[in-house]
Amino acid sequence: MPNPKVTFPRMGTSWVAFKSLIESLDAEVVLPTPVNRELVKFGVKHSPEFVCFPFKATLGELKSALDKGANTIIMAIDCGPCRFGFYASVQERIFRDVGYKDFRLIPLDQADLLDFSWVKTLFEVNQVAGLFKYSNFVKAVIFFLKKCLYLQNIHTAEGVFRAYEREQGITTKTVNRLLHKLDDANTLHELRHFKSVIKEDFNKIDLDKSRDVLKVGLAGEIYITLEPYVNLDIRRRLGEMGVELYQSLSLYDWIAHKLHVNFHRKWLEHVAKPYMPMDIGGEAVWIIGQYIDNAKAGFDGFVHSYPFTCMPEITARTIITNKLKKKYDMPVIFFSFDEQSGVEGFRTRLEAFIDLMNARRNHLREQQKKKENIIQVPNNHYGNLFYRECLELVQKS
Ligand code: SF4
Repeated sequence: MPNPKVTFPRMGTSWVAFKSLIESLDAEVVLPTPVNRELVKFGVKHSPEFVCFPFKATLGELKSALDKGANTIIMAIDCGPCRFGFYASVQERIFRDVGYKDFRLIPLDQADLLDFSWVKTLFEVNQVAGLFKYSNFVKAVIFFLKKCLYLQNIHTAEGVFRAYEREQGITTKTVNRLLHKLDDANTLHELRHFKSVIKEDFNKIDLDKSRDVLKVGLAGEIYITLEPYVNLDIRRRLGEMGVELYQSLSLYDWIAHKLHVNFHRKWLEHVAKPYMPMDIGGEAVWIIGQYIDNAKAGFDGFVHSYPFTCMPEITARTIITNKLKKKYDMPVIFFSFDEQSGVEGFRTRLEAFIDLMNARRNHLREQQKKKENIIQVPNNHYGNLFYRECLELVQKS
């Protein structure tokens, strides 16, 4: 295929890193339209009825890119243990059945990135041979990893700062501006200094640091958690209701895990082991670990989002409800998303959850007045370095 026009699911803001990877390989990128009602409708119409929601949403996304002229789809695959392993082959079959013939789908095996089979896959994307093939490849991978890390940093800062913003919406504008800057940053020099750019931009936000914000852990299935359209923009809504968010899940977090260098995930697996001794798919085992970890660090609550019918996440939910909630007493709310999810009931549930967390915190403070040290104070040494730097910036502002 002479001119590859490559596409992939956007997965929230992850497209910035994917785009950089593909363009550094000298291939053209055709970005899918951001997920919307029409695209989900297409996905629902052409997918098996009980398949997971991310399958339907990504089918719609990829269709929009094929309509714009994409001729190469890159879709991650895994060797199980859940339905994700079948996404690529079934989606390819559906596209051919509905009349899209002139494309190729390249499955990108992400089961274990240390087996380096992805190197061969990426060379397949643009089959141009030449002297610069290998140096381009190294540059592509470095840029990709750096952009993944900065995306994680942007969203970490977003989770902290939005709860304190005086002018509603200013954090969202800052995030969007930074995403454009990151997309445009295509030299090593620019990328080397991008962390300071993120901190400078967030530091310009006018904050009311006297606010007594709630601290909440956010976790869930990766696509649902990262894609704002399908999770009804839960991060923005919670932030604008005065909730400070901690979310360790990101594309960078996932890639580091698949390269076996994610020690935070290994810690969460260790914490979760008495309740779930093995990976059963999705984010189940890490969600259990994060619930326990956040509860021990004195968080006010925990939000778990997942696609309707996602078995691994439903298993995690059951363990949290039946075992962990009783033991750790940290309020938790579950959101199961699909194409039927609506905003109104969702907002009411979020408000009720916030009332519950506030009431619990007031009660614990009353108890604390009577008897010292009865509750754990949120741990300021919690989270990764950048998360702690964001907390410091808020305090110093
Ligand atoms: S994690 Fe859940 S939603 Fe994702 S593919 Fe597996 S079963 Fe489906």
